[in-house]
Amino acid sequence: MNNLLDYTLEELKTWMKENNESAFRSTQILSWVYKGINEFDNMKNIPKPLISKLKENFTISLPTIIEVYKSDIDGTEKFLLGFEDGNLIESVLMRYKHGNSICISTQIGCAMGCKFCASTIEGRVRNLTTAEILAQVLVVQNYINERISNIVLMGSGEPLDNYDNVIKFLELVSADYGLNIGQRHITLSTCGLVPKIYELADKKLSITLAISLHAFSDEKRKEIMPIANKYSIEEIMKSCKYYISKTNRRITFEYALVKDVNDGREDAKALGKLLKGMLCHVNLIPVNEIKENTFKRSSKKTIDDFSEILKSHGIEVTIRREMGSDINAACGQLRRSYIKTQKIEGRMKW
Ligand code: SAH
Repeated sequence: MNNLLDYTLEELKTWMKENNESAFRSTQILSWVYKGINEFDNMKNIPKPLISKLKENFTISLPTIIEVYKSDIDGTEKFLLGFEDGNLIESVLMRYKHGNSICISTQIGCAMGCKFCASTIEGRVRNLTTAEILAQVLVVQNYINERISNIVLMGSGEPLDNYDNVIKFLELVSADYGLNIGQRHITLSTCGLVPKIYELADKKLSITLAISLHAFSDEKRKEIMPIANKYSIEEIMKSCKYYISKTNRRITFEYALVKDVNDGREDAKALGKLLKGMLCHVNLIPVNEIKENTFKRSSKKTIDDFSEILKSHGIEVTIRREMGSDINAACGQLRRSYIKTQKIEGRMKW
């Protein structure tokens, strides 16, 4: 069965025509889907025979919400979602003055192997389909009954390692018949798959590209990010400049500060030199400590000093505000601990 959330309007119109139905029904059907209706019988303006046909050919499959954890500090909500095949992912809703923002996953697990990250410990299980990426936004939006206006692709997985499904997701989520979330309100974060950055640039989308840099030199980067063995910082910078030239969009560089690993004044100066003059912005992330490794967060003073040094090079810097610190550890932690307890209790289905 095909999930309707995998269909663009054009694709659904083609299906309708091939099945001797009026193409205009496609707009009506998708408008129900994106309003949160997931029973065909509730699509009030669709004739009964077409409803039967739809039931025979399509599902509107959303993941099951297994648990919701809400922060008492800032209202951040962490959703543990389950798919029919028994796989789990996490999506996080953050509430800001400017609107609701969701952090979503693009893969079950991740193949990139970054040393500080919990999502990658057991490798990549599989890619999420376009529908599964999109459904995270829809299911959370339905649950809170409020509009979600910003999306960050910063959950589990490497978005550019699931390129085709992610590109289609970007098209669907920003379509006016879809969730209508403008591309300017979407950020895609990558550890730097250079050939895919060029491909993305050529699409000339207006999303924000965020690069997980985390080190100023290849040597240092290799210590914490295996992908650095494949692509050099020089190659990443070249691809970023190409991205800027094609899209005119400012790049975000993410830099997770880890005590005594990449947080020295010399690191900050070298990073400042590397990025000076580029249309970019640096997001400093105090590393989330996870129990599977020994990486420690830098002190507040070190973080502030690091930020000041970058600023003295004319670089715009923000320090990521920690959200929902009482409900979880880092990304991927919730899924891991849930899988563990389920295994112990001998049940992996819900
Ligand atoms: N694979 C993509 C997107 C998912 S990770 C990427 O690498 O960008 C989203 C961001 O969280 C990345 O910048 C990643 O390096 C960072 N991250 C992962 N684990 C972290 C941790 N324990 N503390 C702080 N940031 C972390």
